[in-house]
Amino acid sequence: MTPARSLLQAPIQFLKGVGPRRAERFAQLGVRTGRDLLFHLPYRYEDATTVNAIADIAVGSDVTVIGRVMAKGVLPVRSGLRVFRAVIRDETGRIECAWFGRPWLDRSIHSGDLLLVNGTVSFFHGLQLRPREYTVLARGGKGGGHAGGERAGSGFPAGTIFPVYHATQGLAHREVRVVVQRNLKRLLDEAGNDPLPSSWLESLTLPPLPEALGTLHQPRSLADIAPAQRRLAYEELFFLQLLHARARLRARSAGISFRAAPRLTNGFLESLPFRLTGAQRRAWEEIEADMGRRTPMNRLLQGDVGCGKTVVALLALLKAVEAGYQAAIMAPTELLADQHLRTFEKLIGPLGVDFVLLAGAVTGKARQRAMESIASGSAKLAVGTHALIQESVDFASLGCVVIDEQHRFGVEQRLRLRENTGASTPDVLVMSATPIPRSLALVAYGDLDLSVIDELPPGRRRVTTAVRGPISRDAAFDFLGEKLAEGQQAYVVYPLIEESEALEARAATAMFEDLEARYKDFSVRLLHGRMSSAEKDDAMRSFQAGDTQLLVCTTVIEVGIDVPNATVMLIEDAERFGLAQLHQLRGRVGRGAERSYCIAFGASAKPSERLRAFAEISNGFELAEADLRIRGQGDLFGKEQHGAALLRFADLCRDRDLLEDGRKRARAIVAADPELSRPEHRKLRGELELRYARREALSKIG
Ligand code: ADP
Ligand code: MG
Repeated sequence: MTPARSLLQAPIQFLKGVGPRRAERFAQLGVRTGRDLLFHLPYRYEDATTVNAIADIAVGSDVTVIGRVMAKGVLPVRSGLRVFRAVIRDETGRIECAWFGRPWLDRSIHSGDLLLVNGTVSFFHGLQLRPREYTVLARGGKGGGHAGGERAGSGFPAGTIFPVYHATQGLAHREVRVVVQRNLKRLLDEAGNDPLPSSWLESLTLPPLPEALGTLHQPRSLADIAPAQRRLAYEELFFLQLLHARARLRARSAGISFRAAPRLTNGFLESLPFRLTGAQRRAWEEIEADMGRRTPMNRLLQGDVGCGKTVVALLALLKAVEAGYQAAIMAPTELLADQHLRTFEKLIGPLGVDFVLLAGAVTGKARQRAMESIASGSAKLAVGTHALIQESVDFASLGCVVIDEQHRFGVEQRLRLRENTGASTPDVLVMSATPIPRSLALVAYGDLDLSVIDELPPGRRRVTTAVRGPISRDAAFDFLGEKLAEGQQAYVVYPLIEESEALEARAATAMFEDLEARYKDFSVRLLHGRMSSAEKDDAMRSFQAGDTQLLVCTTVIEVGIDVPNATVMLIEDAERFGLAQLHQLRGRVGRGAERSYCIAFGASAKPSERLRAFAEISNGFELAEADLRIRGQGDLFGKEQHGAALLRFADLCRDRDLLEDGRKRARAIVAADPELSRPEHRKLRGELELRYARREALSKIG
């Protein structure tokens, strides 16, 4: 390969039709080289494959016509706006095409040219076509043209498909198209080297790379587009999984193999007033196997709210302790750390294991003592918030860390944790109650192993969910009152108003006053993020103890709070919440024996698709899938965090099968040849470096 001649590597400026000025504009689109241009794919297509006879055209319709230019010219209409007009004729009739604000077309479209035009038809002194796209099929009276061929029997030449590209200020999508078309052939010739073995592609019935790229830039038929897109998606998914597979391997540095008589874990299991569900057992077996190995565990434990993750996490902690190590669990908030502490008191206390709380509220002497007992190793278990990693807490021998609620902990924090733990790498179990589709989990947490608890403990009834418009509010609040009278507890939740925590607090406060007046016979309390932690704590404890019947709150209660006697939740302004968040909120009720209800107030009587899905689907994973379907991965809850932003070509709904396939292959390859040094893997290695040079370097540091 001679770099000087390689168009793929050439700066975009040196491609036909570009030059320095356009090169700057292309740079804004992230297109800096020929290769970038080749992979700057259309984001949609203008379908002009079905050609209409001009005689059949009606006002308001969207058409494609092909005809000869009979007459043309530029006319001013309003001040400053000039219109290029051309009358075209086919065998059946004639129509005027009017390009507003594009007078320069007069120089490129000539009388006698055979034009293909698509657009919508309006009425202006007769039918007028406002073109979206056009192409010159043949010049002045000559036949032929690139769209080629007569459609059998119809008497009209075949239509075409226009690729539409992302454009930017000063660089219209049509200009991008022209540049692509002018350089495509040479770029494709150079791209002949497919990084993926042809046998894989054959087994997946996907086209080779150059063919796929050619199709995407210049599709001959609409049917060719999807397989070509999937070809690119596959490559992307495969290499991302290859990256993950290698990162996993690197993380397998010196870890701890926990092997000891299951004194605590068995004692714990026997002390539980219930048996593990099948899904809990499976997850625990997976975790136990990980912990038995010398390589550190890196596992994501996913499960719907209330499915019993905490119990499984406790088993992991105890396993570390019974092998002579310390273990820690970290929660995103003080409230939740506190709740874990209470779980410890209840479930671990009887086992005689020493534990400490390390949260912001623990200060002064108490904090000092906690730190010392962690450092000396006398405290076997630590419960904490971020404080556990934010300060240099020295563990004597930290063996296992459970991180509760992944979505509030970043990957960096996960790494940080590793730094503070001395010689051997502790096992890490990340617990997430935000069900995300498996496909997304693989992309976002591909470096983690995945355990899923997809089953609720027996006897748990699904929460009856309804969506109500404004006119049904009163009835809903009456219903809530009845439940309070029956001795049950309830939540009224306010959305997080991003702009202003103050505003949110005010809305909740105003509502609180109303509700306090409405439910005079009951204790109503307020809980929002603006309150001091002592106040919050007090409100929450009072609700947990049953002294407060109604809690008016913001999303402070979002995660983890467990009050089995709470059976009703009203959610205000439900449209403002994401589906995942709504589902998490709903998980606060339905935790006891009584039937539970969740009523979401929508903006109007007719609920949005999202709220309808919320009412209909009770399984968190199914709901997450629905969310992916409705919103598309691009908008999915915090896409940065969830890794969907890593994907340019793949669509996690459409390409799930490819993801699974790519993952299997990637793992098998890395297992057999970690450094990808075998001859047959060299091409893969080269491509991996090309794609993820920076990322690979980063993960080496991590
Ligand atoms: P998560 O952490 O997944 O939200 P928890 O572990 O807090 O769920 O469990 C929710 C509730 O269900 C707790 O009260 C817990 O004691 C109870 N629980 C957990 N596992 C089981 C089980 N297998 N059978 C019955 N109840 C269970
Ligand atoms: Mg929990």
